[in-house]
Amino acid sequence: MKRAVFLDRDGTINIEKEYLYRVQDFEFIPGVPEAIRLLNQAGIMVVVVTNQSGVARGYYTEEDVENLHRHISGELGHHGAHVDVWLYCPHHPSGRGSYALPCNCRKPLPGMLQEAAVTYDIDLGNSVMIGDKTADIEAGKAAGCRTILVRTGYGADDEHRVGSDTEVSDNLLTAVKLLV
Ligand SMILES: [Zn+2]
Repeated sequence: MKRAVFLDRDGTINIEKEYLYRVQDFEFIPGVPEAIRLLNQAGIMVVVVTNQSGVARGYYTEEDVENLHRHISGELGHHGAHVDVWLYCPHHPSGRGSYALPCNCRKPLPGMLQEAAVTYDIDLGNSVMIGDKTADIEAGKAAGCRTILVRTGYGADDEHRVGSDTEVSDNLLTAVKLLV
């Protein structure tokens, strides 16, 4: 079975901008391409798990999300880094049409992590969830993963809300250095 690091996107990989979907608004948090490269070199699978309720709310489309992820992949490629799997939840209970679901993939629920574990043969007990929000930490714990809160994004605000069983690190690069 494989070991994986599950990464939140907004506030963990890129600078938090509300309902980000435009390529030109995307900005890496410093050190992130290096962090992902270190995970790649260590043979740890990198799985991005991101809530994108902006789709359900009609702010942008799934195509916009996928286009942005292609852009991020291209930028990472310039640094010799890559994400193995991109997963996102487009749902929201008060969203529109077919996206208006109480799904099991929206964090803090662990559906995306569990789906990835089944599809890619990931050992969740030997894997890690890293994010800037308590919803990320709760999803990681519910899936049985080790959890690390980063102080980027909303992390500095959420730091006092996580239990002592969650590690806290300044940013993704310092978090990854705890693992490799
Ligand atoms: Zn969902």
